[in-house]
Amino acid sequence: MSRGLGRVVVASKNPDKVAELESLLVRYRLVEEVIRGREWPDVVEDAPTLTGNALLKARQVWESTGFPVVADDTGLEVRALDGAPGVLTARYAGPDATYRSNREALLTALIGIEDRRACFRTVVVAITAAGQTVLAEGVLEGEITWAARGSGGFGYDPVFEMQGRTLAEMSPDEKEQISHRARAVAALADALRNLPEN
Ligand code: IMP
Repeated sequence: MSRGLGRVVVASKNPDKVAELESLLVRYRLVEEVIRGREWPDVVEDAPTLTGNALLKARQVWESTGFPVVADDTGLEVRALDGAPGVLTARYAGPDATYRSNREALLTALIGIEDRRACFRTVVVAITAAGQTVLAEGVLEGEITWAARGSGGFGYDPVFEMQGRTLAEMSPDEKEQISHRARAVAALADALRNLPEN
């Protein structure tokens, strides 16, 4: 396999994200195998940017496992909230936030606000077997709904819509065709192809 990552560890303990990332890495033929069952200490995601957090996760998991790594960090940026929750997306409703409490906090923050424009942004980082670090980004523009809709996906998917449907109203395959994470992995594939040999 040319310009792929070989056997990799996906640097996340969130099974929803791992499932989506694995499927995308396979779709873009970036991996031979995703290694499961490895352990690493919890990573404190305290960087001020998505890129910083993705790099933190990738580097720590690479150091712990010794395998090539793929990590992502995702933020939801809402225009009327000046880009919040952004890097705090996972903890928008507080330190013990759940998917549901985060969605409810967001809908509450947007009560009475007509401008619902928002985007998901994913930064993906790969560390190759040769120790090279490669970064890529994907963005999906959409709008925050007035109420949650749909039972698919995870996180904020039921409150993020584009062209009249929320991501939670799409099949996993449909989400995979258009998502911020898919765009980031496509950009990662390009960046890996253009990586100088070493
Ligand atoms: P992180 O990348 O694990 O920091 O993700 C931050 C938060 O963003 C997660 O807790 C999810 O609630 C949310 N999130 C990440 N990716 C998605 C997605 O694809 N759809 C909806 N919510 C997401």
